[in-house]
Amino acid sequence: QKLKDGLTRTRNNFTAKIDGILSLGRKIDDELFEELEEILILADVGVITTEKIIDNIKIKAKEQKIKEADKIKDLLAEEIYNIMDANEKPFNITSPAMILIVGVNGVGKTTTIGKLANKYKNEGKKVLLVAADTFRAAAIDQLEVWASRNNCEIIRHEEGSDPASVVFDGIKAAKARGADIILCDTAGRLHNKKNLMEELKKIYRVAQREFDNSNIETLLVLDATTGQNAVQQAKIFKEAVNVTGIILTKLDGTAKGGIVISIKSELDIPVRFIGVGEGIDDLQEFDSEKFVRALFE
Ligand code: GDP
Repeated sequence: QKLKDGLTRTRNNFTAKIDGILSLGRKIDDELFEELEEILILADVGVITTEKIIDNIKIKAKEQKIKEADKIKDLLAEEIYNIMDANEKPFNITSPAMILIVGVNGVGKTTTIGKLANKYKNEGKKVLLVAADTFRAAAIDQLEVWASRNNCEIIRHEEGSDPASVVFDGIKAAKARGADIILCDTAGRLHNKKNLMEELKKIYRVAQREFDNSNIETLLVLDATTGQNAVQQAKIFKEAVNVTGIILTKLDGTAKGGIVISIKSELDIPVRFIGVGEGIDDLQEFDSEKFVRALFE
């Protein structure tokens, strides 16, 4: 239900429009498919992905000799589910693990770390935060607020210090204190792209050297309200670091939730979590089946 609520704007826009055109009695013809295509594109599903979906639906509708327009909705749900679920393994991290959170400023990195800390604490895990966005004093302070709210430890250095050395200290502290999950914040000043990417690579190298390689996740945070821009950001980050998953925030703030489909289809990086509000509980593990159901039911 919470997921459904989080998708209210998308449901009111995208889903309601689809229901509108696929109502009973409507003839299945090119005009119908054109209208459907437009709705998908307007919901940020992306042009390439939309075309793929429409083509597949046309083929299946023909094969299955579908006559009623409302049955097209089932085919659409099936197509979306197939895209979302392709090559997906569940997000299972075994302790101790390190999660690097990367992404552009303002997308919701710090908030998401707060939410993740809460989630893992509730699972009985010992969480340690690492403030490796040393570029902005405010970012360090903000993370500190989440640390005290979650009652977990934080490793921080002064503003302007070397982020990789904060990470080094963070891992050392996590080992000494027996932390299960290290959540590491990083900088996101994309206007200085080259420096930022070098910084992230260095952080990643330190993490790999000091920590068990197999247990490092790099999760890229993307803001759903930025639409196709988010896809572009992902391409930039993918070049610099091994992005293992995506966290899509602010889905509650957009009517264009189709961006989730676009991201999965065009990047082939699993979506791991979605943000559906500003509260500490407003983060959900992404489940493609639940997502499609919440969208269409
Ligand atoms: P950062 O610069 O990437 O660390 O971004 P912040 O964590 O500071 O978040 C920027 C703003 O987005 C804050 O006002 C957050 O409350 C808000 N925010 C983060 N995630 C969500 C979400 O899932 N839904 C909504 N509505 N707002 C969010």
